Amino acid sequence: MNLYFSFRDKNLITIWEKVQNNIELSLEDGLTMFHSNDLIPLGKMAHWLQTEKSGDAVYFIVNQKIEPTNICVLSCKFCDFAVKKGSEEAYKHSIEEILQKLSPELLEVHITGGLHPDWPWNYYVDLIREIKKNYPQIDVKAWTAVEIDFFHKKFKKSIEDVLLELKEAGLRTLPGGGAEVFSERVRRLLFNQKIGEKRWLEIHKTAHQLGIRSNATLLYGHIETLEERVNHFIKLREAQKQTNGFLSFIPLAFQPGNTGIKVRDHFTSAIDDLKTIAISRLMLNNFDHIKAYWIMLTEQLASVALSFGADDMDGTVGGERIAHDAGAITPMTLAKDKLIKIISDAGKIPVERDINYNPVKLHSDKIIGKVSYLNTAPFFEHLEKGDYKIFSSPPRQLGKLFKKDNLTAGIISLMDFFEKEESYEMLDYGIVGNQKVKSVLLFSKYPIERLSQKTIAVTNETSTSSQLLRVIIEHRYNIDATYINENISAHADDLPNYDAFLTIGDDALRFRKLHLKDFIHQYDLAELWYEWKKLPFVFAIWVIKKSFPQDEKQRFNEMLKMAYENGMSNLNELGQYRGKRLGLNSDEIKDYFLKLNYKIGEKEKEAINTFRKLLKLELEHKSLR
Ligand code: SF4
Repeated sequence: MNLYFSFRDKNLITIWEKVQNNIELSLEDGLTMFHSNDLIPLGKMAHWLQTEKSGDAVYFIVNQKIEPTNICVLSCKFCDFAVKKGSEEAYKHSIEEILQKLSPELLEVHITGGLHPDWPWNYYVDLIREIKKNYPQIDVKAWTAVEIDFFHKKFKKSIEDVLLELKEAGLRTLPGGGAEVFSERVRRLLFNQKIGEKRWLEIHKTAHQLGIRSNATLLYGHIETLEERVNHFIKLREAQKQTNGFLSFIPLAFQPGNTGIKVRDHFTSAIDDLKTIAISRLMLNNFDHIKAYWIMLTEQLASVALSFGADDMDGTVGGERIAHDAGAITPMTLAKDKLIKIISDAGKIPVERDINYNPVKLHSDKIIGKVSYLNTAPFFEHLEKGDYKIFSSPPRQLGKLFKKDNLTAGIISLMDFFEKEESYEMLDYGIVGNQKVKSVLLFSKYPIERLSQKTIAVTNETSTSSQLLRVIIEHRYNIDATYINENISAHADDLPNYDAFLTIGDDALRFRKLHLKDFIHQYDLAELWYEWKKLPFVFAIWVIKKSFPQDEKQRFNEMLKMAYENGMSNLNELGQYRGKRLGLNSDEIKDYFLKLNYKIGEKEKEAINTFRKLLKLELEHKSLR
């Protein structure tokens, strides 16, 4: 695939080649983009990359911002939210007052505020604990790195202990604030009492290691240079390589208001905002999500940003005060319906999500579910999708949406299909491992026949592969093992501390390249199945809603057939971008597609029935135990 946009600025052409080949952009590339006036191709490149990552999805969450107090011991120059104790404008909320502001439909509260000089440690822990006790469905995103560092100093606890105690009370993620811009020069001039880059990154990496994911921000449009902005992106990209713990990046346009910064007496321009969003998308190629924070950008500009690389609108964000006090011109609360309309008008799928970007509901019709792995490229790279939209996700999450009848058609994991056969009919295509699949792998410290009584970690992205593993272990090898669901990632520094682990999809392809020291045995589940049953294994199949009109179904089938045939007749180009991101060379990518089979014929149907019978046996076996 070599997409060509019309570039007026020829300097962008080499950057576009790098983007398509997943080559990291340099400081010079970042500056070239900021200095370029060729805005539309810049947006198109960013939009292309965003679509590669999240299909047509744009996320939002039903959330509320809480600022327990505006009293702060610091006096950052860009902040006109904070006041000193005793000020007429000072306020502080008790836990009871905060609970009264919350409501059952919320899925997230976002808590940040001033660094109060007198509050005890218990206030912070109890606040989270009480929110979880009264509203168990609400996930808590709370306290920036600046606040975590403040707790560490004030309460004489290590950063680990602060984070662990908050996690134990119910904290799920950290917001990204407090990073401002990673520049010692700017820090000294604007917030010299506040933590700098080193401490901010250290706190976020510690949180990631403790299982607390986080977000990252950039405050731009004040006294920072373009070079400082680009360096900020590069430092975040490096940190993400180490922990893979950042969920999203949020560029925050500076609101001058009544702050102490009089360098510029106007808001950032729309062009600067769009460039910053697009360039952050392109520079931060290892971040999944870029947020258009509508409360600062305005609704209008945030909606344009959805075609410039952003794939998240944040949320309903009731009660925003910090931006408002500094002069943000958007209304205090955007209703959920309005967010849905903004996203729909941009031609995207409004995806209501939870704090970890798991989809809760898709607010759109005619959606095709795409498994977000390299192995589905033959269907999607040449799909002329017409008025359909694509929602891309690992199989387990797609299965949940199929269960809610939220998808019109798409690739469903075989296990999920067994549960939804009454609503969806099988089409002629699927993802089939013939004698090998290469991307459903068990890594083990012991030979498989010696896994009896051992613990196997299973990636929480799978629905079918985990069942296939159990069937093989219990019925082919006649052994019992313990299974634990885990968030297994080839990006993280630490490997799961188990006897074996099952990984699937793109992560399995990454793990194959890692040459793991302790996990010296590697098993391809399709191969184990083939040796045993002399049959292929069907991991997933294409389905369409039974209730869909007959003529639409026929058109869909033709569209799918054409996409597949085009995909397979362009094997030399197929999946190149994604494959290279996984560390595969062109031959390895081609070989991967050739090993798989994509058609459901008689043999595949026999394999599906054989597996179904074994699952039944497995269920009976369990009920006898
Ligand atoms: S930015 Fe945060 S730490 Fe700085 S003065 Fe404002 S509330 Fe306090």
